[in-house]
Amino acid sequence: MLDPVPSSPATLSDGSSPTGGAVLPDGVDRAATPPQRVAVLWCRRTADTALRALTSLDLIPLLLAPADTEEFLATSGEPSVLVVDCDALDAEAADVLARIRAAHPRLSVCALAGADASRDGLLHALRIGVAEVVDPARPDDLAAVLTKVVESPAHVRVLAVGAHPDDVEIGCGGTLLRHRDAGHAVTVLTLTLGDQGGRPTDRRREAVGAATRLGAELLLADLADTRLDEEVGLTRLVEEVVAAVRPTVVYVHSAADQHQDHRAVHEAVVVATRRVPEVYCYQSPSSRVGFSPTRFVRVDDTVGEKVDLLGVYRSQSARHYLEPDLVMATARYWARQLPHIRHAEPFEVHRASGDGADLH
Ligand SMILES: [Zn+2]
Repeated sequence: MLDPVPSSPATLSDGSSPTGGAVLPDGVDRAATPPQRVAVLWCRRTADTALRALTSLDLIPLLLAPADTEEFLATSGEPSVLVVDCDALDAEAADVLARIRAAHPRLSVCALAGADASRDGLLHALRIGVAEVVDPARPDDLAAVLTKVVESPAHVRVLAVGAHPDDVEIGCGGTLLRHRDAGHAVTVLTLTLGDQGGRPTDRRREAVGAATRLGAELLLADLADTRLDEEVGLTRLVEEVVAAVRPTVVYVHSAADQHQDHRAVHEAVVVATRRVPEVYCYQSPSSRVGFSPTRFVRVDDTVGEKVDLLGVYRSQSARHYLEPDLVMATARYWARQLPHIRHAEPFEVHRASGDGADLH
């Protein structure tokens, strides 16, 4: 394995946060940021050009040998992009790349091929089906291609809003995990520290832990727990967060909820997100029987991880609604609405575009 390329913290500071350097309203704290994005490179001659392009996009570049890359993917997960210089693509490396493509069909691969590139390497890349081939001597072209490749899923920006720590994880944790897995940018906004239900320091720590598992940015406010319905600036605060996050999909409490904080958050969010294309309302343990979902997101692949995610909230472990069998049974119950699905999360549709949150 080659050495990881040193990166400048100054360049990489807030680059992966959905809100980046945007101004947040007073009283809202960026308590967790999503993990930094990584780019794996197979190149030597063209490394400097590729490194410049990748660092300008706030990616951490990692020079690896092809033989070491499969292990990296197995242990560290998928990078945002794999950049392959065709000169490094001999028959052996091409075999590795073909296996990686088969095992990770969503991983973006960009090939570098200059005018004097190895013909065999270029043929290997094309045969394997690498769609993006760019001349490293044209840095503007390289930056444009990498931007397109890396940013393509990020047009989906998700904002999940809850009154208390654990609300969004209970209501739509499996769906947020699917957004994370699809490479979408996820932000959680939690409006109180839930101090009526536990020590704020514990609840804050747990919320940060859950956001880390979600790969999400966490924005935390410390408004008065159980009294959000008296909070005159709530809508304005959410509007300012919406301006910073610029979400394309929003998840929020349903209005059919017995908890006054949940209803207050619903009202504030539906006003503040009036220009957001998709707004869905999730179920809470305090939802009324009038909760009437018409959208059901398959969470077969993430419901187990959702249970683990809820386990982060140890201070709430006595709550019956966090019991794993109830979480699983609830997801199993809602799956009866759709064929061929075993677990689902239900949503009321407040507003929907035709794209359906890109989770198909
Ligand atoms: Zn709540």
